[in-house]
Amino acid sequence: MQILKSEAELKRALENKKTSLGFVPTMGALHQGHLSLVEKAQQSTDQVIVSIFVNPLQFGPKEDFQKYPRVLEKDFALLEKQKTDFVFVPRVEDVYPQGWKTKINVHDLANVLCGKFRPGHFEGVCTVVARFFQLIEPSHAYFGLKDLQQFLVLQQMARDLFPRLKVIGCETFREVEGLAMSSRNQYLDAKQKEESLAIFRGLNKAEQIYKQGTLDSSELIKVFLQEIEKVQSIEVQYAEIRELENLELIEQVNLPSALFFAGFLGSTRLIDNRILHASEKLL
Ligand code: AMP
Repeated sequence: MQILKSEAELKRALENKKTSLGFVPTMGALHQGHLSLVEKAQQSTDQVIVSIFVNPLQFGPKEDFQKYPRVLEKDFALLEKQKTDFVFVPRVEDVYPQGWKTKINVHDLANVLCGKFRPGHFEGVCTVVARFFQLIEPSHAYFGLKDLQQFLVLQQMARDLFPRLKVIGCETFREVEGLAMSSRNQYLDAKQKEESLAIFRGLNKAEQIYKQGTLDSSELIKVFLQEIEKVQSIEVQYAEIRELENLELIEQVNLPSALFFAGFLGSTRLIDNRILHASEKLL
């Protein structure tokens, strides 16, 4: 595995790149969820590059940029074990050279759900990912469906700006008990981890009654929230069913759509979702 620490090192390493290059952007503190993306990339491309970069642009002023876990040596060991070809760990000045002023905004999709509660977040995500696409020129890029809105926003951005790139969504990887893996889970103590399982239970219940014929969004959300409300320490930010096509609210689940959730457990923000009615957009 080659560790590339600057734009110059990246360019040199990629001079002789093979025909297909799979790219997995991350912020590090890697877990099995990240590695499942690498594995999926390895199955369909000749070489795989993972970036590790805690992107200042996507954090709000009161968010956890400073305390976000940074464990590079451990990450390198996991990627090495996974037989990753390249890991790119750029400096801020490689990503945003002096004088950089461009930010990328995907309208409509980025203004709801997390976009509403984290102003500027998706602009930061789109800008950094577009910059990586420009530097790395991958043929394929892999994103987790755990961050379903992020995936839909980036898929739209790639369609508009990088039409030859294939963007692939990868299923949410969960702990055995059901909590979606996240670098932020390490902020949770044992009791909170237990409490967080209400989210998974709620999603399961909503999906179960959807499969039994309940299409009414408000009924599905009610069933989801009943599980969440059993745990007083979860503070709900949003629980909404929206269409995958345009992220508009939907009253009846008769089009491709998902239940999206975000909330706080103590000071830790958790998100999760369940696709109820799937779509080709996710393939
Ligand atoms: P992050 O390091 O949190 O920015 O995540 C990097 C990539 O890994 C994003 O595409 C995430 O959606 C994806 N990812 C994070 N957690 C998971 C998970 N539990 N399952 C699948 N993909 C994930």
